Amino acid sequence: MTSVDYIIVGQGIAGTMLSWSLWKAGKKVLVIDDAKFNSASRVAAGIINPVSGRRFEPAWMYDTIYPFARDAYQQVSDILQVPVLTERRLWNVFPSQQMYDAFMKKAGGGQYTSLPEQPEYEDILDQPYGAAIVKGATVNLRELLPAWRQFLAGMGALLETHLELSALEVTATGIRYGDIAAKKIIFCDGMATAKNPWFSKLTFLPNKGEVLMVRVPGLHTADIIKKSITLVPYGPELFWAGSSFVWDYTDDLPTGRQREVLEKSLQQLLKVPYTVETQLAAVRPSGNDRRPMIGMHPEMPAVGIFNGLGTKGCSLAPFMAAHFTEVLAGNALLMPEVDINRYFNISRG
Ligand SMILES: Cc1cc2nc3c(=O)[nH]c(=O)nc-3n(C[C@H](O)[C@H](O)[C@H](O)COP(=O)(O)OP(=O)(O)OC[C@H]3O[C@@H](n4cnc5c(N)ncnc54)[C@H](O)[C@@H]3O)c2cc1C
Repeated sequence: MTSVDYIIVGQGIAGTMLSWSLWKAGKKVLVIDDAKFNSASRVAAGIINPVSGRRFEPAWMYDTIYPFARDAYQQVSDILQVPVLTERRLWNVFPSQQMYDAFMKKAGGGQYTSLPEQPEYEDILDQPYGAAIVKGATVNLRELLPAWRQFLAGMGALLETHLELSALEVTATGIRYGDIAAKKIIFCDGMATAKNPWFSKLTFLPNKGEVLMVRVPGLHTADIIKKSITLVPYGPELFWAGSSFVWDYTDDLPTGRQREVLEKSLQQLLKVPYTVETQLAAVRPSGNDRRPMIGMHPEMPAVGIFNGLGTKGCSLAPFMAAHFTEVLAGNALLMPEVDINRYFNISRG
């Protein structure tokens, strides 16, 4: 019999940062992950963008969550010896005069944005309305996830299998799964949670994103480039180009329709030829109110969830994982905005 404090189901960015945070707090964790090839975290480019929308408004809680994330990813990087967070410029091409004007109305942007001192990418990008520079970053999910997985495996804290809900026993004293006993189980299983009957009251608004991996001869940059499509450098002349948002879909696989949409956006951005190498697709685990879904089940205190990271998994996961760790230790109350009790109509009174 293996005994642990926490079973964590799923090792996307949510399960990675929660298991890291609990492990750092001295808890014994066991991560169970079935390595779904197109989980959201395996398809995402890991962009952290401080602003969003036409008005370049700062993202929710950004001033708090970003410094926290930067520090946490640095600590993870030191332990795993892989580069995790890279701060980089986000070259934000204005799609119209209207967008440029809206940006200028806000005195050239604000804390996270500025205008370039001179034009750049003139031979490569179609940018008649110019561009703004945003202070962005990327999280190197391609190295972080396997490196943390290997670290977990090295301390006997990883089970590479699909957790079957039907084989899970929830008792008064905790959790049993085969020969594993745990005080608590926390589901970090992304969109799979939508099928979990214990959390059927949570309102997911999942959306599918598709991405192309493209080669752009002559484009050498460390910047993220964004117009209606975003390019993230992945290797010499190789870019992640995405991503679409589709709410009405039948499966989580790449489609010809979205390839057309993505290629159209690429053609509107690039003045130079490119080649498509592969196409990827995944579903974002978004909640209806765009806030994380965190907490222990109100009627089953041994069963919890850490999910709903939506489009912002990389910026939200470190802070929210640390917050949940404090809550689980009894040192804090969950922030009401992320507390799953909002779906169970339970108010704090
Ligand atoms: C195309 C696309 C682009 C994106 N780009 C960005 C971006 O640039 N920046 C950003 O911050 N966010 C981005 N996102 C959003 C981001 O990917 C998500 O917020 C984040 O990955 C969610 O992580 P998660 O760990 O909750 O879920 P997931 O990444 O889906 O992880 C769930 C894990 O659980 C495992 N699992 C599920 N069920 C079981 C089970 N029963 N047993 C065992 N294992 C199980 C799966 O194998 C998987 O490893 C993007 C999403 C998409 C789809």
